[in-house]
Amino acid sequence: MILPGAIVGVLGSGQLGRMFAIAARRMGYRVHTFSPEYDTPTGQVADLEVRAAYDDLDKVREFARGVSVVTFEFENVPAATAEAAAEHAEVRPAGSVLHTTQNRLREKGFLAGSGFPVAPFATVRSAEELRRAVEEIGCPAVLKTADWGYDGKGQVRIGGIGEAHAADIAWDSLRTREAILEAFVDFEREVSVVAARGTGGSFAHFGVLANDHQNHILDITVAPAPVPPEVEKEAVEIARGILEGLDVVGVLCVEMFLTRDGRLLVNELAPRPHNSGHLTFDACVTSQFEQQLRAVCGLPLGSTELLRPAAMANLLGDLWSGGEPDWAAACRFPEVKLHLYGKAVARPGRKMGHLTALASTPEEARTRVIAARERLIPSPLSPALSPVPGEREKGSA
Ligand code: AMP
Repeated sequence: MILPGAIVGVLGSGQLGRMFAIAARRMGYRVHTFSPEYDTPTGQVADLEVRAAYDDLDKVREFARGVSVVTFEFENVPAATAEAAAEHAEVRPAGSVLHTTQNRLREKGFLAGSGFPVAPFATVRSAEELRRAVEEIGCPAVLKTADWGYDGKGQVRIGGIGEAHAADIAWDSLRTREAILEAFVDFEREVSVVAARGTGGSFAHFGVLANDHQNHILDITVAPAPVPPEVEKEAVEIARGILEGLDVVGVLCVEMFLTRDGRLLVNELAPRPHNSGHLTFDACVTSQFEQQLRAVCGLPLGSTELLRPAAMANLLGDLWSGGEPDWAAACRFPEVKLHLYGKAVARPGRKMGHLTALASTPEEARTRVIAARERLIPSPLSPALSPVPGEREKGSA
């Protein structure tokens, strides 16, 4: 067991590492972070911020020598980086988990090969292969780069390739050597299960989370998800099977589609805490970040009990288009928690922070978090001092 007082190392330096570092420091651990950037969301709260390229393997080895365990918050670190780190420290989850999940074809191959439900897919390495894959899978379909895809980046929707050159245009637009064509899923909703597995094989999950996306980026998560108990049970069993199959020690998120006829299909795996699990920070006995810490340090896993229904709304850089958002307005909602990641530059689509609302029901939490986010942008129609809907005035006579 790696006990409080020890140093944990994080590869990557974004908001996931920041919230991991906050959880770790609260429990008396020290945190070192490694990434090519400086003054990062993780570095701002870590004890030590190492700035070096992921392929600078000497620096990676030196980093690993200085910590008791290495985990990551960014799964696209090269395999060689995880291997170099593993020469000097435990790497959890292991580099093999990264290897499988950082490439969509390897990931889908593992899932389908192990019997987990996925949408039909095919490998595509040329426009000619795309034409054949479309014949096999049908349209609509989604063409995704095998490597480096996230938040809808490196994806094109294929409505049909009947027209001359349509396949060539779609293939060329992706600018990649290898891609996956997936059948387009007409889903009822998107859900995820964030789960953890300890060193001795113990398992814990945060239930089913309901996710809404905007422009392929997560927008709102609600817990618990409004799904029938049998769907919840199946989703959790899928997650359990995947964590066991990959021999994960740490946290992994399984993103799934719930089809209109009630089937679950796995879309994507993330071998680390996930945006849809951010609400666990305020709404659960143990957050996904503390759970990652406990798992990678070999500690017993904590309770994942959801203390109250909750909803999370992402704050993207777009919110800054008219200047700094009105933080005080969101803080006027006493049951809304503000999280900002310390990023200096707000760009459209960039995840800058999130809000979590707690309430008596998931629907109320959702309404509340959306209302709080709307208040961040001052508008002539909603004067800054108008009453906050759904909130009782605290302390008023
Ligand atoms: P991904 O980067 O694969 O997680 O995709 C981002 C988002 O695009 C998903 O959360 C879905 O909203 C949408 N999407 C991706 N793949 C499909 C698919 N095969 N069918 C329908 N929607 C999809």
